[in-house]
This record gives sequence, C-alpha cells and structure tokens, in this order.
Amino acid sequence: MEQSVLRAASARGQSKTAPANLFTLEKMADGVYGAISRPVAQLNCNAVIFENSNGLLVVDTHSKPSAAAALVAQIRREITSKPVRYLVNSHFHWDHVQGNAAYRKSSTQVEVIASEATRQLLSERAAPGLKSSLESAAGSLEVYRKNASSAANEADKAYWRQMASDTEAFIKEMKDYVPDLPNITVQGDLILHDKAHDLHVVFRGRGHTAGDVSVWCPSKKVAATGDLAHGALPYIGDGYPQDWPVTLAGLGMLGFDKFLGGHGGILTGLTRLHQMRNYIEEVTMMVQEGLRRRVGLAEMQKQITPASLKSLGGGYMEALVAAIPGVPGRTSAQIIAGTVAGNVSQIHAALSRPA
Ligand SMILES: [Zn+2]
Repeated sequence: MEQSVLRAASARGQSKTAPANLFTLEKMADGVYGAISRPVAQLNCNAVIFENSNGLLVVDTHSKPSAAAALVAQIRREITSKPVRYLVNSHFHWDHVQGNAAYRKSSTQVEVIASEATRQLLSERAAPGLKSSLESAAGSLEVYRKNASSAANEADKAYWRQMASDTEAFIKEMKDYVPDLPNITVQGDLILHDKAHDLHVVFRGRGHTAGDVSVWCPSKKVAATGDLAHGALPYIGDGYPQDWPVTLAGLGMLGFDKFLGGHGGILTGLTRLHQMRNYIEEVTMMVQEGLRRRVGLAEMQKQITPASLKSLGGGYMEALVAAIPGVPGRTSAQIIAGTVAGNVSQIHAALSRPA
C-alpha cells in the first residue's frame, strides 16, 4: 500500500514536466555523478556513476532493463563513452536490481558485485518478488483507471492516466523477465584500485536488509549508500531495526561528506544520515517499550506519530515533506504519517520475529 502511494507521489512530480529522460545527472565530485531518478509509477532507484580510467562502475540498476538502458544512453550523451565495467547491487530489492540484464546485454565484460547475503536473498526471493510486484502492478492499474475515470478535474485525470500507462508498460516489459544474479560477492570490504581513484565496496552490518553494501571513494569523500541512508523515510519490511542505527553510525565514520542514497537527492554533510539513524532508533525504542507494556500494534500506531517523535525535529520533518510531492486527495504530511505508521508495523514485525 505505502509503496503504491510513494509511487503515486513520485509520479505526481513528473506529470507537470513530463521529461524525456528518466534521470537527472548531477556531478558529485570529479569523475563521480549521481543519477537522480525522476518520478514514474513503478519507482526507479537512483544510481551513482564512478568514472574509472578505462570504464565505469555503476551502483544499482533500477526496476526494469529499459530504465538501465536509458541511463546508459544518457551517460553516453552527457558524460562519457567509456563502457560500464562494474555494477554494484547495493541490496536485493527489485527497484535496485532488475536492470542488471540490460548492462550484460550492452557489454560482455560487466562484473556484477554484491554482498554474499544479497546474492543469496536474490536467488531465493527475486522470482517470487517479481511475481508479486507484477500482481500488485495489475491491482494498481485497475485503481489508476478507476481514479482516472472519476477524477474531479483535468489535471488529476491526466495524472492517473500517466500512472496507468507507466504501469501497463512495466507489466508488458517485465512479464517474461528472468532475474539476473551478481557474479562477484563480498563478505567484508572490497577495494578496487584504479589510476583515477580507489573505490571501496563496504559492508558495515545489517540494516535495510541483511546485505546492504555502500560504495565510497576516500580521495573524493563521496559515497553511494543505497537504501541504508537516503533522503526519504526508511522502508523496514526486510530490515533489522536494532542493527540499522549501529550500521549507520559505522558508515558515518568512513570519512565521506557527500552521499546519494537509493531515493531522494544528493545530500551534503552527514546531518541527514544521523537524522535517519535517530529516527529508526527512536521508533524502535518506542515499539520495544510498547511490546514490554503489552500495547497492541494499532494502539502503538496511534501513539507513535510524527508529532510525538523528537527525531523528526531539527528540520528533518520539513525536509521530508519538501521531498515528497502530494498525490490527489493526500498531502505530503499525510503520506509521511502513513509511512511512520508503516514503519511502526514493520519494526513490530521485526522485533516479534524469532532472532
Ligand atoms: Zn530497498
């Protein structure tokens, strides 16, 4: 549910401008670029492009091969004609890996790197995950069509029509998709030495999933952090809420001062990383306290609201609101309240699971 609202929220931003490119390429440092995903119905993650002396390393591959192919074409137009030699899948989620095949098609020399845990999770869950995302897309399509026919004004109608056509295209492209696995796995850190710069692929502990890796460049002090640290509220459905804040603290000590996560924009400084850490820590502590006092989930969701959370102070809530455009009938603040309620439920489930 929340996922579809987020998708809807994202597509809202697009309907105003309808850009030809799926991404905006922004320079993060010399030879390092962020590809910021523009909104579409089936959300694409961001990518980070590191330009090595003879080729590129790209972090994350979006929700479908055509999105990855579009990024490759855009890189050629706007940055360099060097081939992509390395891909890193930050974690196993569909919106970060389903473009892998497009890179393999564009070059025979692409090495796909991930953590051992991510490869394992992909081999178990990519196929059923794709099946369920196609089912959920089919369900959303019905809703979008219904919303388009009952929309109150032309702008809302156009918005829901765009959502429906994005979703139809996604279903058509992905219905015969075969998941693609990484061929190099790491359990700790991997350092790629290149004349241009050294790149570190690092695992600092469980967080958003069991196997999130980040890529950072010590000489340029920039990092690609996947969904461990980004400019939106976290999704914790496959996460480890007690480990995640510790993992983020470790990540924050690496030495980068600019980063791009899987969603949202480029972040300068570590304020947002620490805000995200404090948010996960605070909600987790409140859910633990609720469990100790035998408070039910629905009651916890009533008590743990954006207004009750200290961690959303200091400008964090305002920054989150600014990053999410509203959808017809729902404000950004309502969407965030829904995400917080979802996080409470996800943390409740994670803490109730046997260790
Ligand atoms: Zn994710």
